[in-house]
Amino acid sequence: MEFKTVGVLGTGQMGAGIAQVAAEAGCKVRMADINREIAEKGKASIAKILGKAVEKGKIDGKRRDDVLALLEPADSVAAFRDCDIAIEAATENIELKLKLFKGMDDACPPGAILATNTSSISITLIAAATKRPANVIGMHFMNPVPVMKLVELIRAMQTDDETYAATKGLAERMGKTCVTSKDSPGFIVNRILLPMLNEACYTLMEGLGTPEDIDNGVKLGLNHPMGPLALADLIGLDTCLAIAEVLHKGLGDGKYRPCPLLRKYVEAGWLGRKTGRGFYKYS
Ligand code: NAD
Repeated sequence: MEFKTVGVLGTGQMGAGIAQVAAEAGCKVRMADINREIAEKGKASIAKILGKAVEKGKIDGKRRDDVLALLEPADSVAAFRDCDIAIEAATENIELKLKLFKGMDDACPPGAILATNTSSISITLIAAATKRPANVIGMHFMNPVPVMKLVELIRAMQTDDETYAATKGLAERMGKTCVTSKDSPGFIVNRILLPMLNEACYTLMEGLGTPEDIDNGVKLGLNHPMGPLALADLIGLDTCLAIAEVLHKGLGDGKYRPCPLLRKYVEAGWLGRKTGRGFYKYS
């Protein structure tokens, strides 16, 4: 499969990153979100990142302009009518994703692959909501997408071999290395990461230390590049809570119970970097 045109639905931090790496790989990218204005904002965030790369001498102005010229913000998913693959990267919510997949299924041409960047939700359930379950797959990028090397591929029970091989080929064309996970809550990466982030929230709630103590403890003591609370702020606390809930419900084990303090932060609207406040404040 050639993948000339890629659709990206949801142009927040992950969707914008996916659109950027797709364009850098030479694909034409149609970007859709709730409306065109939000999709335009997604493109503007990519322009900012590429502008900084030019300032630092990492790429030249022509490369920036060539990549930006491939990005086309759209009014809606209807613009995906000529896409070879559509990658969904909207808010982590099961009902929303099932609805968006029905829309992508209607909009995309027959044979196009429908991929989701979900962090935790069942790919098999999402595939079953479409009329082309064999062409549905999990394509889980890491944050920030242009920097992180991994893509986790998740086959639904229905995914066929051609869809899996073609999606792997596209991820590799984007410069990524793939691992493959079974379709189970949180897959491999978040099954391991989320309990750690959730536990960090418990250590904060129980007053074991300040956010700085907790993060420095993990950074300097375990040699992690970022502390867990700073990483949770980067991911988005709403996304962390949504993943924790899928793990808790899907695996049915009390050890995955979302930390009440995490829930309180989300109730307060303190979602991390994207709202300017989470466990830390951002200007
Ligand atoms: P985000 O909040 O930055 O962006 C979500 C986007 O979805 C927003 O632009 C929002 O307007 C859009 N959206 C909401 N409802 C929509 C609708 N009805 N139609 C179209 N678009 C809609 O979130 P994010 O961090 O980019 O996460 C997106 C997805 O990527 C989630 O499934 C998340 O689990 C997954 N993911 C996130 C990370 C991370 O570190 N944040 C890492 C890997 C995967």
